[in-house]
Amino acid sequence: MPENEIQVLLVEDNPLHARMLRGFLDEIRTPRFPVAHEDNLTAGLNRAEEQRFDVVLLDLVLPDSQGLDTFLRWKARAPHVPVVVLTGLDDMGLATRAVENGAQDYLLKSQINGALLSRSLRYAVERIRARSEEWDSPMFRVAHQQFLKAAQVVELDDNIRQRLLFPQRTQVLSLPFRRDGYDQVETVFGYRVQHVLTMGPTKGGVRYHPSVSLGEVAALAMWMTWKCALMGLPYGGAKGGVRIDPRGLSRRELQRLTRRYTSEIIHIIGPDKDIPAPDLGTDAQVMAWMMDTYSEQVGHTVPEVVTGKPVVLGGSVGRETATGKGVVILIEEMAKYMSIDLSGSTAVVQGFGNVASAAVKFLEQLGVTILAVSDVSGGVYNSKGLSYESLSNYVAEADHGTLEGYTEGDRVTNKELLELECDFLVPAAIENQITAENADRINCKVIAEGANGPTTTEADEILIDRGIHVIPDILANAGGVTVSYFEWVQGTQNYMWTLEEINQRLRKIMTEAFHRALQRSIDNDLDLRTASLCEGIERVTEAKLIRGLFP
Ligand code: GLU
Repeated sequence: MPENEIQVLLVEDNPLHARMLRGFLDEIRTPRFPVAHEDNLTAGLNRAEEQRFDVVLLDLVLPDSQGLDTFLRWKARAPHVPVVVLTGLDDMGLATRAVENGAQDYLLKSQINGALLSRSLRYAVERIRARSEEWDSPMFRVAHQQFLKAAQVVELDDNIRQRLLFPQRTQVLSLPFRRDGYDQVETVFGYRVQHVLTMGPTKGGVRYHPSVSLGEVAALAMWMTWKCALMGLPYGGAKGGVRIDPRGLSRRELQRLTRRYTSEIIHIIGPDKDIPAPDLGTDAQVMAWMMDTYSEQVGHTVPEVVTGKPVVLGGSVGRETATGKGVVILIEEMAKYMSIDLSGSTAVVQGFGNVASAAVKFLEQLGVTILAVSDVSGGVYNSKGLSYESLSNYVAEADHGTLEGYTEGDRVTNKELLELECDFLVPAAIENQITAENADRINCKVIAEGANGPTTTEADEILIDRGIHVIPDILANAGGVTVSYFEWVQGTQNYMWTLEEINQRLRKIMTEAFHRALQRSIDNDLDLRTASLCEGIERVTEAKLIRGLFP
């Protein structure tokens, strides 16, 4: 399902009620609820066999079936589709029995409004996911496959291998926050996962996104471990998140959610324990609220509890653009290695958020022609090149917010964009973009992974066979956490570094890590991802062995 869409099947025989419900659903924007409608059970069941639905809104009193039997017949034929039962005031008992028998929720027809309907449907889908898919995430599978491949290469001790497969500490929360209409409370799932506690405090971002699950956060925490170890930073990996689409929230709602999330994880974070940072769907403002909530609890200001905060609160200059900067530093190194002249080269960038836009800016400064960029609204392509300034001005305009409607180029889809011919392809949006399905058609010399996990293991194999170089995420996007480390050091030591100092140190750390990984890939005849993972895994293993096992 597109991440921002919940497919609803409405089975309701009363045309007035059906029209009212569709009206409510049509108006909701985040997520969208495309609706299919049938007016009897048999037709509804047939429809559910032909088409995949995320949830069904089921009236229990239909021309061809009445009462609890309607629900039981549904459950027998389509057990995987969660059900929200529609009921009148006079058959509340029936609704309760349906819930006892496995329906996710019931709604009283006379009291329904858009907000209630949206919440009930979202929760029905989420509860099913929470039960069945928490660990079972495609991203976690990819993280495991990559780890196991590298573990084999370094002949990792089996005891250590088992210890590294799952995070050492996980916290799963269901947390409430108030919507702006005071009466409505949302309850959402939140997570904080700490993968390795051996190396020092743990470190990693917090993402707000509808696809967040325990498995996804665990995968991202694992990648943080390898990333920090590869860069030589004194951290283990962590990650956190809340399963919500922040675009559907007002600023005040976002603040209440952030403060509640922070207070729920307060006992496991701290400047010596675990230091959150921005990730997908969060930014410097969210970090400021996290820092403030933590500081209020402990009774004094603790800027070092988070990184990626605004500079005025002790953030570091250069942090905001650090991930994109790091991607470009490694593109420069790769270009030197492959003897590509950057000033005559071309790039395609997927995304136009924090990482992607900074990458576009720095690539342009080096004379690279940016052929295409994209965001949630799709992509824009111009064979003569796009301009960073024009793109970012357009997006910054209040009534735009995205690239939708940008006219200085042709529209392309996110999928088409990945297959455009170029020298450097920078997937810097979300995971799972280069897969077995499109890896054959990727048309570039180098992929530099700005996002975490954009390439699947099957796609990796195809790219290796085709001779396309991949600068893997744990290397390419490590600029963010590296400048986060600088921010943390400046905070704990009360230092203030200049942008030149930050950029110099960043370049040094990233370039050295890149050449270490590259050398290893040449020496051991490995792809760059596996070589980078080997470097990270070995460092963590060495630390674990030297510390020994308690008790
Ligand atoms: N979220 C970023 C990442 O995935 C940065 C983490 C940090 O700065 O701690 O690397």
